[in-house]
Amino acid sequence: MGKNVVIIGGSAGGPSVAAEAKRQDPSLAIKIVEQGEHVSFAA
Ligand SMILES: Cc1cc2nc3c(=O)[nH]c(=O)nc-3n(C[C@H](O)[C@H](O)[C@H](O)COP(=O)(O)OP(=O)(O)OC[C@H]3O[C@@H](n4cnc5c(N)ncnc54)[C@H](O)[C@@H]3O)c2cc1C
Repeated sequence: MGKNVVIIGGSAGGPSVAAEAKRQDPSLAIKIVEQGEHVSFAA
């Protein structure tokens, strides 16, 4: 079974980390937890 990654915060840094982690290891299962209504909006 692949590794699970949980990223807290889905504004700018979180989705960037998710994208780079997935490039490094496509088998990762990544979940982004965002408290707000929108993701990937800050930059
Ligand atoms: C006035 C202003 C103007 C800016 N203009 C620009 C610009 O023109 N261009 C540019 O590139 N950058 C700009 N920036 C900088 C840019 O907004 C930040 O560098 C960037 O948003 C940082 O992203 P981050 O993901 O590190 O943090 P944040 O954007 O702070 O994101 C953190 C996220 O984590 C979430 N979060 C926090 N705690 C929890 C929790 N416990 N559970 C779930 N979710 C949680 C928050 O809701 C938030 O969405 C500006 C900043 C400011 C203040």
